[in-house]
Amino acid sequence: MEEKTPKVFENAKKQLEAAAELINIPEEHINLLEKPRRIIEVNIPVRMDNGKIKIFRGFRVQFNNLRGPTKGGIRFHPNVNLEEVKALAFWMTWKNTVIDIPYGGAKGGVICNPKEFSIGELERLSRGYVQALERDLGAERDIPAPDVYTTPQIMAWMMDEFSKIKGFNVFGVITGKPIELGGSKGRDVATARGGAYIIKEAEDRIDLGKKRVAIQGCGNAGATLASILSSEGFKIVAISDSKGGVMNEKGLDIDELLKHKEKTGAVSGFSGGRNIDKEEIVGVDCDIFVPAALENSITKENVDKVKARVVLEIANGPTTPEADKLLFERGVTVIPDILSNSGGVLVSYFEWVQNRTGYAWTEEEVREKMKVKMANAFEEVYSKALLFKVNMRTGAYVYALQRMEEVLKLRGY
Ligand code: GLU
Repeated sequence: MEEKTPKVFENAKKQLEAAAELINIPEEHINLLEKPRRIIEVNIPVRMDNGKIKIFRGFRVQFNNLRGPTKGGIRFHPNVNLEEVKALAFWMTWKNTVIDIPYGGAKGGVICNPKEFSIGELERLSRGYVQALERDLGAERDIPAPDVYTTPQIMAWMMDEFSKIKGFNVFGVITGKPIELGGSKGRDVATARGGAYIIKEAEDRIDLGKKRVAIQGCGNAGATLASILSSEGFKIVAISDSKGGVMNEKGLDIDELLKHKEKTGAVSGFSGGRNIDKEEIVGVDCDIFVPAALENSITKENVDKVKARVVLEIANGPTTPEADKLLFERGVTVIPDILSNSGGVLVSYFEWVQNRTGYAWTEEEVREKMKVKMANAFEEVYSKALLFKVNMRTGAYVYALQRMEEVLKLRGY
């Protein structure tokens, strides 16, 4: 996976270019939209528990702010690199346009392995990230959120650090906070719930077969989606994490499985199923495959193994352009990341609105508003795909690009 990551930004741009070919957008606008507006690289000194100072490299890419303040999560992972963060920030730009919230796109990352940190080290790194980027963040400027291996607690430390520097509380500088500290109801499960709304929307138009689901990734999004879908009549036949996988054709008992994962730290070894290699998850016999881990999960090397009729992209960038093309030719419907996983940033937006107005919504209000937005976005993307006879990813980019072109013109570009 590592050696493929540097191509990830090149691949991301190809997705936009496929849409640009279909509609009339000046080349200079495409050129503008493919260049990150600002790239910030920082070195963060952290006092480790052994008394030594360790320096961590961190990034923030503020890709595009044409539609509003830049917005997107922060990832703590050993494989983070600038190309990846650029791609992730690029995707945030288009995701925020597809789901129709007034934000541009950004993303951040720190090269580190948070699994090896003590709680104190994690806190000092989180605060260090904000100290290093303090001038570049702000509720009207750039608003981070959780991503891979970052949590509500980390968001709380970051908000606290930013507020201390400013001298007053700035809740709106970051989203995905704990409820007690300005977080929104429903934010923790929002990415998964959004994915579930999308698959329900799809059900009216796409044959989902026997609704057997295989999920790659058992983090916040993957695990929550497994719970939601299994309670809504879908059968979760396999799930994997960073260590291995587990499968049961009759359907996994998700509550029990998550207890097992909580206890042992892994899905494998679960008595209600049999172990599989984590690589096998892509080829599991199922109707819906859900990549919910990292980029480059379906590539030209393993695309032939995919047996699903629908791929619901909950991870960012899980399918390479070559694999995308082959899946489309085979009649597999890929519901693209910038639509399927937009529930997370959508509820981040709701959180930010609640922080600005100082009025907290009920979980029901969050759900209702979410449902309307997700259904609209699905409809727009699906109808563009039909109109242009392309896959849903290109449909999504056509829709977003047409809207972005409008903004460019209005701003005088
Ligand atoms: N990290 C999430 C994403 O990739 C959420 C971003 C946000 O809430 O700003 O969409």
